[in-house]
Amino acid sequence: MEKTDNSEKQDRKIAYFSMEIGIDSRIPTYSGGLGVLAGDTIKSCADLRVPMVAVTILYEKGYFAQKLDPQGNQQEVPVKWNPKDFLKPLPNKVSVRIENRTVAIQAWQYDVVGITGHTVPIIFLDTDLKENSEYDRGLNDYLYGGDQWYRLLQEIILGIGGVRMLHSLGYTEIKKYHMNEGHAAFLTLELLNERKRKEEPVWDFEQVRELCVFTTHTPVPAGHDKFPYDLAKRALGDLLPFDVLKMLAGEDRLNMTLLALNLSKYINGVAKKHGEVSQSMFPGYQIESITNGVHSLTWVCDTFKGLYDKYIPGWRNDPFSLRYALSISKDEIWNAHQQAKNKLIDYVNKKTGFGMDYETFTIGFARRSTTYKRADLVFSDIERLKKITEKAGKMQFIFSGKAHPQDWPGKELIKKIITASGQLKDRIKIVYLEDYDMELAKMLICGADLWLNTPRKPREASGTSGMKAAHNGVPSLSILDGWWIEGCIEGITGWAIGSPQDVESNDQEDASSLYDKLEFTILRTFYINRDNWINIMRHAIAINASFFNTHRMVQQYVLNSYL
Ligand SMILES: *Cc1c(COP(=O)(O)O)cnc(C)c1O
Repeated sequence: MEKTDNSEKQDRKIAYFSMEIGIDSRIPTYSGGLGVLAGDTIKSCADLRVPMVAVTILYEKGYFAQKLDPQGNQQEVPVKWNPKDFLKPLPNKVSVRIENRTVAIQAWQYDVVGITGHTVPIIFLDTDLKENSEYDRGLNDYLYGGDQWYRLLQEIILGIGGVRMLHSLGYTEIKKYHMNEGHAAFLTLELLNERKRKEEPVWDFEQVRELCVFTTHTPVPAGHDKFPYDLAKRALGDLLPFDVLKMLAGEDRLNMTLLALNLSKYINGVAKKHGEVSQSMFPGYQIESITNGVHSLTWVCDTFKGLYDKYIPGWRNDPFSLRYALSISKDEIWNAHQQAKNKLIDYVNKKTGFGMDYETFTIGFARRSTTYKRADLVFSDIERLKKITEKAGKMQFIFSGKAHPQDWPGKELIKKIITASGQLKDRIKIVYLEDYDMELAKMLICGADLWLNTPRKPREASGTSGMKAAHNGVPSLSILDGWWIEGCIEGITGWAIGSPQDVESNDQEDASSLYDKLEFTILRTFYINRDNWINIMRHAIAINASFFNTHRMVQQYVLNSYL
């Protein structure tokens, strides 16, 4: 029998809150790994019939679109998109009190439909309403834009407004609120307030803790939002007595991570090592780990989809079975890859006129441009790189990635790559593609021969683009940090840069290790021992894609965290 709309909503037991969600490159409400992970998580929940509803903010001008001039200077332009093309407006309105005024919030819905037909609705919050002031109407313009005050108000909209909107929409039986990063931690204040006993101000911390789970995503301190209490006081008014708030969120500044830690029953990092690093950052709390994954069906390119459909039927909702990729013939693996590579090279040549070659060993590197990711590490010794290409074989590089508008060193990195491209142009072709997004990410992780990642340890919580590459048989060459500690089997699924013993990265040693691997192992295997190369491709799929997927990850969340 058809369920009534209301009982269907009451069956939704898990509310997933995220400042950004990347579900489709045409819906520009994400900036990078955190948002794409959120989107992939929701897609797997839809496939696996997990009774979830998700909440985020509708950014009318997106994160930003990136333009690069010939020197590599980044210019940011607002993204033009029309929410009406993708989302359904909802009639409900709720409000929050900010600075003693009322800010009205409306919502839009996008349904993620799983393979099995089950859907997970995403609720996008929106303050662009006539009854709001000009400033408040702009609160949902930009993701990660504006100043601290702007961010604080956005997080009030997300956390407090989000809980109120869920209730207004009829999601009244939520058993777990999952905070995907600390941005959403204000939801705990709303839950506390709801449960406050009417007669006397007694706060039921234990009950709220039962309701909340928290995933922390970065060991970089700047990644944890902290607001001065005078701002918080101005914004929140008397929502909660300040002595209570300080007890929960820290004495000197309102720390969103502490607030989430103090009011969550289950807390986790996003890879084994990141769980340990987070545990030592916050020794008073028990921090588990659930290693990230990616949504397999989203990140497998068409040619590999065809192969898997033919040899591993059922893989789409059972990515564990990708382990059987070991029995697919080498010729078919190679052909599928070469087609994806041709498509990428065609795209690059059409966009840039760079004349990249279809047979040349192609290294891909794409992610947010920020210093700890060290996109320039591979160019720290230009002369050595020239020698490698003479001795061991030709190579070419494709880079992409946006720098946050305020991240000046991150912007410098882009210029450094462009400079290196000029210096090496007669020997090694290097292109930097502008406006990295999910669509471009997919083309790159499918079409490159090798996926490179060179973060400074121990700052890479997980990293997910290498998992996407593995789904298409593309091995990684990476620093042993984040997921790669778990995913790297040397010479079988890819290669490590540096040793597992290093605690902190040393640029020079890492560069030297990177060059050695390229010269003595990787290029030779690719050009001289193609058979072994394709075997490594198969193992990347069989060993890594079968594990580093959000189907496995969501099942761990359900069993360890939600239930
Ligand atoms: C997967 C993805 C990321 C994350 O990449 P990492 O290498 O894990 O940092 C960032 N941006 C986009 C668009 C992605 O698709």
